[in-house]
Amino acid sequence: MAGGLIGGTGCGFLERGAGMEITEVRIKLIDDPAERLLAFCSITLAGAFVVRDLKIIVGPSGPFVAMPSRKLSSHCPACGFKNPLRAGYCNQCGKKQPETTVPRDTDGRPRLYADIAHPIHAAAREAIQRRVVSEYEAELDRAKQPGYVSRYDEIGDEEHRPPRRGG
Ligand SMILES: [Zn+2]
Repeated sequence: MAGGLIGGTGCGFLERGAGMEITEVRIKLIDDPAERLLAFCSITLAGAFVVRDLKIIVGPSGPFVAMPSRKLSSHCPACGFKNPLRAGYCNQCGKKQPETTVPRDTDGRPRLYADIAHPIHAAAREAIQRRVVSEYEAELDRAKQPGYVSRYDEIGDEEHRPPRRGG
């Protein structure tokens, strides 16, 4: 059944990451074969803390779990308006925006998103990846049953709301 532990303390080992207890995974399948997005999901840690809005996307070697993230923005130096990070010009006053406001990854690519919640080492990342993908595959089977209902708690249709522009 769903809701088992991953590397739980019950089996007597507390390897970092593998000892992180994921007590529940909820999946919302996305039924659009044209999209790379396969599903949204939430995970519950130690029966006490829920992280929502993880995404399961098509990766180079199977389903890949992406952490919840937010789009970075920067304030216009002239008027203070919040623009998308890579905007060339302010959406409010039209002034050219300084290029220096775009942070770069270690490989030099512009960073436009920041994770809201994320594992801090590889073992935890792999534990989440393994558990979520296995639940995703189980959910695909469950979805074939009559009367199937996703257990993912949707708050309205936030995922499909177009980004708000302007104040
Ligand atoms: Zn401005």
